[in-house]
Amino acid sequence: METSLYDIAIIGAGVTGASTARLLSSFNLRVALIDKASDACFGVSKANSGIVHAGFHHASTSLKAKLELKGNFMYDKLHEELKFSFKRTGIIVAAFSSEEMKTIRKLYEQGLANGVPDIEICGSERLLSIEPKLNQDIAGGLYAPFGGVVEPYRFVFSLVESAMLNGVDFIRNFEVVSSAWDGSSYTMKSSSGEQVKARYLVNAAGLFTDKISEIFGAETYKIIPRKGEEFLLDRNTSACPSNVIFPVPAKESKGMLVIPTVEGTVMIGPTSENIEDKSDLSTSYRNMEKIFLQASRMVLGISRRDFITSFTGLRPTLEHEDFMIEKSGKVPNFIHAAGIQSPGLTAAPAIAEYIVGILEKDFGLKLEKKADFKAELPPHKSVRDLSAEKMDELIKENPAYGNIICRCERISEAEIVEAVRRGHQTLDGIKFYTRSGMGRCQGGFCTYKILKLISRESGIPVEKITRRGGASYITGSRLSADFLAKENV
Ligand SMILES: Cc1cc2nc3c(=O)[nH]c(=O)nc-3n(C[C@H](O)[C@H](O)[C@H](O)COP(=O)(O)OP(=O)(O)OC[C@H]3O[C@@H](n4cnc5c(N)ncnc54)[C@H](O)[C@@H]3O)c2cc1C
Repeated sequence: METSLYDIAIIGAGVTGASTARLLSSFNLRVALIDKASDACFGVSKANSGIVHAGFHHASTSLKAKLELKGNFMYDKLHEELKFSFKRTGIIVAAFSSEEMKTIRKLYEQGLANGVPDIEICGSERLLSIEPKLNQDIAGGLYAPFGGVVEPYRFVFSLVESAMLNGVDFIRNFEVVSSAWDGSSYTMKSSSGEQVKARYLVNAAGLFTDKISEIFGAETYKIIPRKGEEFLLDRNTSACPSNVIFPVPAKESKGMLVIPTVEGTVMIGPTSENIEDKSDLSTSYRNMEKIFLQASRMVLGISRRDFITSFTGLRPTLEHEDFMIEKSGKVPNFIHAAGIQSPGLTAAPAIAEYIVGILEKDFGLKLEKKADFKAELPPHKSVRDLSAEKMDELIKENPAYGNIICRCERISEAEIVEAVRRGHQTLDGIKFYTRSGMGRCQGGFCTYKILKLISRESGIPVEKITRRGGASYITGSRLSADFLAKENV
């Protein structure tokens, strides 16, 4: 079989690769977005705090600071075009002593130097008027109204959908294990023997950018995973602030936060600990208690009974702590997007522009705008926020909108069917695309229904459906599959 030749291949369909693919799809180029996982956003981009940072945490000399604020500004247009959930909630840094207020002043000055709009140092009275859920003992703090929250998976999925709509090939289940340069293009091989050829290569492999660099014979560096445990509170918690609440930051991280997620739940965390193992996604009771105590100091009313689940994300960090986005000095036509730790989600739209700038200026790639580029995606139909009348209209159009599969998050059969038809055929793919299974019961009531819908729509037997690809089967046996077959959806 003949191997496809692309102008550009991007390794990694996280927020970095997806943003780059979407931007490149606006030019007359052949682009492949490659991922070893069975869906987009199954790496670091699925497990983070979902904050669109305001741009005052990093010194203006860093690449992170430049791309963070630029990325933040780009969210409004993307939100309008791609219809993912995004809200400018505002960000507060809460100080509890005059000593902490000194750090607030430094952050404020850093913010001003970076060009953060409308940033303000507040006394306790002003801060409590902005955010009444704060502990009344607060000394004061920083307020940055431009910060916000986004649903990271829907953001990445919409970038990939838009890229595909504009001609990008999304190649899943392709783990790049080797590559050879023939003088004009790279031929990459996957672990199962398929091949893809491309003239230019963007390494956006998150935690594994060091490994990809080694495979291509490019620079040697080490990605250090920095573990962050997060805990999710039920949407009915009384401790839901309107703004994202930060403590005064520690040396290596922005501290443990209280985050009103864009979908209405509350998240607290993350921890910050350098580890060796890139597969360690464990969470611990010890850290839950630590986060609970720190978050409770800032926002009153957090209860242990509100905890519904926990997860871990690993920040892909480099020793110098900054992003490393540059062309390789060792091998041709190769770009590193490495060390994309926080604020990578915020900066992603600007990272994509930076990468495309390298392709154009350093490699002389000709960028010709596509005359028929489609910037807009259609709005996503969701029954969750609809009035009874609107819901009735939708049900008349398609009765499957009236069959609620996930009761906690109110997700209908029609939404799950749409997700399957758009290529999300694992349980996590459906969960991240629709939010089914993300509520109080964490899939206890709806998992079997979702499995049946995936099977009905895709033709995959229930016992072959996985949680996130590979061998992560759900039912484990024919017996449970037979049981599922008897249950009515
Ligand atoms: C706990 C935590 C909280 C965070 N909070 C925030 C926040 O609030 N705001 C913010 O701006 N940022 C935040 N971040 C940072 C942000 O999540 C990351 O910067 C961003 O997700 C990195 O995206 P990426 O696309 O570079 O990497 P990834 O999302 O990891 O994507 C890389 C992809 O490469 C694929 N891949 C790897 N190796 C191969 C191979 N050999 N072949 C094919 N594919 C391969 C992987 O499967 C993966 O899908 C947080 C991070 C963590 C861990």
